[in-house]
Amino acid sequence: MVKVRHLVFILGDQLSAAISSLDQADPALDVVLMCEVMEEATYVRHHPKKIAFIFSAMRHFADELRQRGFTVDYTVLNAPDNAGSFSGELERAIKRFDPEAVRITEPGEWRVLQMMEAWAETLHCPVDILPDKRFVCSRSEFVAWAKNRAQLRMEYFYRDMRRKTGLLMRGEEPEGGRWNFDAENRKPASPDLFAPKRQGVVPEVITREVIDLVGRRFKAHFGSLTNFDFAVTAADAKILLDSFVTHQLPTFGEQQDAMLSSDPFLSHSLLSFYINAGLLDPLDVCKRVEAAYLSGDVPLNSAEGFIRQIIGWREYIRGVYWLKMPDYRDVNFLKAERPLPDFYWTGETDMNCVHTVVSETRDNAYAHHIQRLMITGNFALLAGVRPQAVHEWYLEVYADAYEWVELPNVIGMSQFADGGFLGSKAYAAGGNYIHRMSDYCGTCRYDVKKKTGEGACPFNALYWDFLDRNVEKLKRNQRLGPVYATWGKMTEVQKNAYRQSAAAFLAKLDGAVRTY
Ligand SMILES: Cc1cc2nc3c(=O)[nH]c(=O)nc-3n(C[C@H](O)[C@H](O)[C@H](O)COP(=O)(O)OP(=O)(O)OC[C@H]3O[C@@H](n4cnc5c(N)ncnc54)[C@H](O)[C@@H]3O)c2cc1C
Ligand code: SF4
Repeated sequence: MVKVRHLVFILGDQLSAAISSLDQADPALDVVLMCEVMEEATYVRHHPKKIAFIFSAMRHFADELRQRGFTVDYTVLNAPDNAGSFSGELERAIKRFDPEAVRITEPGEWRVLQMMEAWAETLHCPVDILPDKRFVCSRSEFVAWAKNRAQLRMEYFYRDMRRKTGLLMRGEEPEGGRWNFDAENRKPASPDLFAPKRQGVVPEVITREVIDLVGRRFKAHFGSLTNFDFAVTAADAKILLDSFVTHQLPTFGEQQDAMLSSDPFLSHSLLSFYINAGLLDPLDVCKRVEAAYLSGDVPLNSAEGFIRQIIGWREYIRGVYWLKMPDYRDVNFLKAERPLPDFYWTGETDMNCVHTVVSETRDNAYAHHIQRLMITGNFALLAGVRPQAVHEWYLEVYADAYEWVELPNVIGMSQFADGGFLGSKAYAAGGNYIHRMSDYCGTCRYDVKKKTGEGACPFNALYWDFLDRNVEKLKRNQRLGPVYATWGKMTEVQKNAYRQSAAAFLAKLDGAVRTY
């Protein structure tokens, strides 16, 4: 048996050369452990593109570590002796190497942290769990920031992160004299939004092998594996970052909220896969974007909007996750209990907006933020779907979904299931919003202008019915004041028409009659 100092266990979303578990690693003394395990690939049924991306990126990362001189003990999914779980694989490796200690960077999921914290006792080996330094704000820093605040708001947190990083700052003042340029970032959909063709990566031999494996082993999972063009190395992810900065970033701001049937990506970066898995460092990405602004290549509204998503929203979301877990997973402020409709899996619905987003999700393991928030998220919120069912769907279908980032976005931001802890706004909208920001309604069977009755856009009645149903819980929400004032001015006949239209639609959903 070989005696080693540290067994450095690296997980599939820890593929960063500078990950803390490797900080003091010495190829002469330490061994790296990596494994593809069924338990993680199936505890929810992840999209096949997500599994292929992670396994291929892991295999490439292992090769890079070997080139740095490390011994990497790597178990592939179909290895005959694969134990099938993190705990099982670690136990086997401890038996093989008898290390003085296991070193691991903290995971992105509460469930896995519980598992890790038990290992020292169950596996009879010291386990050092190190902080994940790939965030601007550490977990303890966020706790300190949140302490004694009656209300948490991303905007104030974001300003602190701007000050901390110095990104887009002129001394103490924000570049351009304002912290936030969102007012300039709400251009609706129109054909002139067509973005230049997006660069992808042609799969090489390792990726092709993984695609083949995933195609065979995860046939039953939702999602298509065809046209896989993800980057699977840090070098290729960097090329995609450069391409985004040149071609899409200049229009990122103005197109941020738009949706077009012919273009699932518009000016979004498609970088979340790589940032979340560790192939790109979030701060490096922001510095690259800032440099493009400072050299005059992109406008401030785009650079600021993009940087806010990363050092603002992304960091804030992570802070809330660790602050509120494990209870956060089960909150259900609006007591929504409807099961997730079938069409979230099939795309078979006459609502063109939902059909388009689900179909694109199936094909790409991706939908951009406004599609996630204002189409699939909004529909589930209005229809009163159980937030935990919505959460599981999002965790399964997107290639960038890890619980720390997905869960607060779904439970807090999209489903308002935390009663406004994460954000003050309930993202509920009727058909008008979707019509204004997209071209989906033009070819829809439903009429977006029609408010109630046969052929009316379901979002219209569902929107008012949602507000009516939840009036006791939402009426004190300041941002909904004007909307409730409008509802209050409607006649009982109008109100009842909305209630009845919504009830008829929801009855079809519940009866699973395929005319939705
Ligand atoms: C219901 C719902 C579920 C979501 N689930 C996930 C998820 O599982 N994983 C995930 O990474 N993001 C999630 N988001 C946030 C956001 O939609 C995605 O980060 C974004 O769509 C990724 O695409 P992009 O890289 O093209 O982003 P861009 O639009 O180009 O934005 C740039 C970057 O900003 C970051 N970002 C933007 N918004 C957020 C946000 N709200 N939270 C965290 N980071 C953000 C991402 O790193 C992203 O790559 C979710 C949002 C909603 C409303
Ligand atoms: S009419 Fe309504 S259901 Fe149809 S695409 Fe527009 S918003 Fe969606």
